[in-house]
Amino acid sequence: MTTTGTAAPPLTSHLAGNYHPLPVVLATGEGSWVTDVGGTRYLDLLAGYSALNFGHRHPDLIRAAHEQLDRLTLTSRAFDHDLLEAFANRLAALLDVDLVLPMNTGAEAVETAIKASRKWGYEVKGVPADQATIVVADGNFHGRTTTVVSFSTDDDARRGFGPFTPGFRVVPYGDTAALAAAIDATTVAVLLEPIQGEGGVIIPPAGYLPAARALCDEHDALLVVDEIQSGLGRTGTTLASDLVGVRPDLVTLGKALGGGIVPVSAVVGRRDVLGVLTPGTHGSTFGGNPLACAVALAVVRLLETGEHQARARELGAHLAERLDALVAEGLLASARSVGLWAGIDVDPVHGTGRQLSERLMARRILVKDTHGQTVRLAPPLTITREDLDWALDELTDVLRSTVTG
Ligand SMILES: *Cc1c(COP(=O)(O)O)cnc(C)c1O
Repeated sequence: MTTTGTAAPPLTSHLAGNYHPLPVVLATGEGSWVTDVGGTRYLDLLAGYSALNFGHRHPDLIRAAHEQLDRLTLTSRAFDHDLLEAFANRLAALLDVDLVLPMNTGAEAVETAIKASRKWGYEVKGVPADQATIVVADGNFHGRTTTVVSFSTDDDARRGFGPFTPGFRVVPYGDTAALAAAIDATTVAVLLEPIQGEGGVIIPPAGYLPAARALCDEHDALLVVDEIQSGLGRTGTTLASDLVGVRPDLVTLGKALGGGIVPVSAVVGRRDVLGVLTPGTHGSTFGGNPLACAVALAVVRLLETGEHQARARELGAHLAERLDALVAEGLLASARSVGLWAGIDVDPVHGTGRQLSERLMARRILVKDTHGQTVRLAPPLTITREDLDWALDELTDVLRSTVTG
């Protein structure tokens, strides 16, 4: 098994090499489990980076998709369809927001939030033309478009892709004083992840988001929170912002909103902010299409009961206890978790995050490293306690039995 380095793709393959996946080829999935082409079953503890919060092929979501496939799949926004308003209204009610602007991918939702913030800044706040600034945090992950990587601090994500979009100021994540110092009269928005997912499930001090809220109020700037990975039940609340009682002006959603079936994203928030996007100023051919709305409506229905959020809280408390025990035993360098979402830092004596991922794969557990020594755990919120405990027993055993270097 390859354990390190980026293997050159075989010359016979026509697939672009912009990923370095674990060496597994999946064929089917059901709930928390997937099966590879050879018939081996694996427990999925990544859940599509939280795109699969409700597991693989959740029956309610599959039913909604099938019914819609048999009825109407695409209209473009040139015409309305009979689920568009229903989707917007129901999502707005779930999140207690004024407006919903549907897009497809997460990066598009972030781009939409940036455009709305800038236009609001010029038309409502009165920032001089082309002077708008947006304050962001280092270690951020907001997607892969040229504008979004313009304010990434990950060298791999940026190098070779300039010239970059100006107008962004990067401050250390979790540092309220640095945030305060970066905001001025040109600032239209502060854009933050409430917890940095790709960064390794980095949880800021509890006062950070509330302080950002207060600073934005003080300076007439928008608080834009990217909940594409943290939102929709993952942290034990519908939004991670709810954990600290913060109401952002705009929220970006994606990943789990598409139920693991189709890409669905949205920007939700204040009417006077999203209202600056009038006909002709912004759009998407596929945004809010009937199939997307059917699936996303079914996702909203799953979240309305609060059942998945409660599961994430209960199982999350158990996950945190068990990870703390591994840290106490000296088997993990450190661990952070909130709800069913954890970042574990692998002590180098146990190898790299990649090596741990490969060892867990050999034990039929799928996870993926993020940033060298860190492995993210994000099981479906529908995982059973037994499956979670089995995976944690295997993790414990792998760590106890491997010492490298
Ligand atoms: C995944 C992610 C994105 C980008 O979503 P895509 O659908 O891959 O474009 C943006 N922000 C956060 C926080 C994410 O986790």
